[in-house]
Amino acid sequence: RLSSTEQIVKKLEEKGTKYVRLLYSDIHGYPRGKDIPLDFFKSITEEGQAFCYSNLVDGLDGSPLNAPGMPNRGYPDMRAIPDLSTLAVIPWEKDTVQCLVDLVDNNGKPVDISPREFLKRTTTLFNDSLRLTPVLAHELEFYLLQKGKAGWKRYSDQAGMIYTVGYRTDELGLMQKFLEAGKVLNLGVTAANREHGGGQFEVNMIHGKAVSSADRAFSFKNMIKEVAACNGLLATFMGKPFNNQPGSGFHLHLSLMNQQGKNVFSDSSAADGLSEMAKHFIAGVLHHAPALTAFLAPTINAYKRLIPNNIAPVSTDWGYDDRNVLVRIPPERGLGSRIEIRAGDGAANPYLISAVCLLAGYDGIIRKIELQPVEVKGNSLPRTLTESLQELYADKALCELIGNSMITAYSAVKTAEIERYQQYVTDWELKEYVQHL
Ligand code: GLU
Ligand code: MG
Ligand code: MG
Repeated sequence: RLSSTEQIVKKLEEKGTKYVRLLYSDIHGYPRGKDIPLDFFKSITEEGQAFCYSNLVDGLDGSPLNAPGMPNRGYPDMRAIPDLSTLAVIPWEKDTVQCLVDLVDNNGKPVDISPREFLKRTTTLFNDSLRLTPVLAHELEFYLLQKGKAGWKRYSDQAGMIYTVGYRTDELGLMQKFLEAGKVLNLGVTAANREHGGGQFEVNMIHGKAVSSADRAFSFKNMIKEVAACNGLLATFMGKPFNNQPGSGFHLHLSLMNQQGKNVFSDSSAADGLSEMAKHFIAGVLHHAPALTAFLAPTINAYKRLIPNNIAPVSTDWGYDDRNVLVRIPPERGLGSRIEIRAGDGAANPYLISAVCLLAGYDGIIRKIELQPVEVKGNSLPRTLTESLQELYADKALCELIGNSMITAYSAVKTAEIERYQQYVTDWELKEYVQHL
């Protein structure tokens, strides 16, 4: 008799699969992986595939991190164990499936700074201490860029406006290519449209349990970039790539489900249809928002999106179906009762923002933090990455929930990023100063 793993491999073989692409998220949400021939894949399902640990936390410029406190002295290995429940055909490759992996150290212990592992820990906390299951949906915007004579330019920049569909704004039919690829990859894609910006688009995904939803968002970003690349385009989730165009958001929809499958954010007897628990959750998110910003707006650039009159939040406020606030309550009630956290920047890591927002809400529930009336004006969000990291370190309750190793790793990566930027002379400085001073 074949084991279930052998059966899965046999099925892949029968379907003509030749390669398995292993993928995991590094600290930035950037997909790292290896392509494995199918006949070798079986041994990997048991022992795992070796990867160098430090690549989980190195900089986006490729610089390996060697920060104090990091377990990367001599750059040791970790092992990637395929999560066979995530196997899916990659439609833009030939005979290739993808498989997300769980990262363990050489003693088989989960790598605690793996973003996927962090989100798993967080959902376990909800299950164990509240008997609740987090339900999330990830909403991502992005720009498509096409190669022009003078470098990259925005794809169908001048054509149409928000919600224009068809060839006028998408002569390559990319929206339907994204929907098709998303379907083959089981991403639960539900809609695709042109956004406010020239060359800016949005593709939506259905909600689901936290880890599988974040898996889909992680896979989605990779899919959009790959399908765009197959068509000679560059897709970017960078939050504010252009001065005179809106930024790209990464909105996070959250609710909590009890063991009977009921949405506990819903209370039909309340005037606004929202439960006390929903209110405490929102209060937790707003209370911890300055610290959360370090994850939601994770780059130097992200803070240029969080400006007034940009349909993006600038302060720690909430509101009913209001797109200018940090926590918007969409109009649906009952099973669809949920909150939308709007500070997220396209560049954010789906696993990390899911986990930290859930932990903030958890703290609101546990400590019964009181939600201020909707009219009360919130405080300003941090204006820079440096500021939001300081808010994070100062937020002891949230740091404790996140855990020391994740805080240390994230801080080391981001501190190095800020340091690189601090030493770099930008175009703006030259434009502003070089001629007149
Ligand atoms: N582009 C906006 C942002 O940066 C969001 C616009 C929308 O609500 O669709 O978050
Ligand atoms: Mg949008
Ligand atoms: Mg939205």
